[in-house]
Amino acid sequence: MSEQTKKSLLTVDYPTPPFPEQPQQAPGLASKMIPQPDHGEKTYRGSGRLQGRKALITGGDSGIGRAVAIAYAREGADVAIGYLPEEESDAAEVIKLIEAEGRKAVALPGDIRSEEFCKKLVSDAVSQLGGLDILVNNAGRQQYNESIRTLSTEDFDATFKTNVYAMFWITKAAVDHIPRGGAIINTSSVQAYSPSAILLDYAQTKASIAAFTKALAQQLGEEGIRVNAVAPGPYWTPLQSSGGQPQEKVKQFGGSAPLGRPGQPAEIAPLYVTLASTETSYTSGQVWCSDGGTGTL
Ligand code: NAD
Ligand code: MG
Repeated sequence: MSEQTKKSLLTVDYPTPPFPEQPQQAPGLASKMIPQPDHGEKTYRGSGRLQGRKALITGGDSGIGRAVAIAYAREGADVAIGYLPEEESDAAEVIKLIEAEGRKAVALPGDIRSEEFCKKLVSDAVSQLGGLDILVNNAGRQQYNESIRTLSTEDFDATFKTNVYAMFWITKAAVDHIPRGGAIINTSSVQAYSPSAILLDYAQTKASIAAFTKALAQQLGEEGIRVNAVAPGPYWTPLQSSGGQPQEKVKQFGGSAPLGRPGQPAEIAPLYVTLASTETSYTSGQVWCSDGGTGTL
């Protein structure tokens, strides 16, 4: 048995709770997480499934987006990543990993709560990649709040701007560039279907993303553009430890999933690869879930 096969069989041994408390200010950095997440840096092996494709991934610096960026590059795609300026150090690591595959890497820092920036993000990605045929709307904001009484309009607005409006603005700007055979993949959540009390605003945005995905798939079907979503359960990323959950929950994160642990970003990237690949050319308007055995969808 090769070392790689042994390693892949051992993924059931990924870290289990309890985890240390590790508060960070949003958006947080992957480099500060304990234990370090696995984004596939040492584990993901490509097989040419996205050869020559051109992808824009929002939130590509860390977490699920980083794992998707690494996987796409190893499958032969050129990749542009969007992220916030304060995440430059995480983003620089991803850029290096994409370039190490001999693929083009484009770094596009900025705040997607601005429509102007969303337009620029897409036009810069298109001009620097020389086109665009895969869009992954993955950036997200999650800040827990115990009560509707304390949830401010500013917070509600920031969550909707980041998770819903930006997806609309970016997709609207991108759609005329995406050719037949292209794919749009949005990151929803199990929260769309099974909302937590403390994620009142966030859960609504994730339900919006699922509905947006299904409606847009119907609009774009005849153009040969597929639109799908991925709904993660608990994944070990900075989103959770940077105000996404109370620290008490971070310590036990993923412990109630039947697999007894949070997922690692590397474990969900293959869904994004498969949905982007023309191998799934009859799959559109779907939400694919990965939740460690809970069976949410
Ligand atoms: P993450 O913190 O690593 O990624 C989120 C990214 O969103 C950040 O890296 C940041 O670059 C980007 N972002 C946030 N606000 C932004 C803004 N205003 N402008 C530009 N970029 C901004 O965490 P993650 O868990 O990998 O999150 C990726 C997606 O997965 C999110 O949509 C999240 O809602 C979703 N999700 C995560 C989980 C989980 O358990 N981690 C579960 C379900 C869904
Ligand atoms: Mg980040």
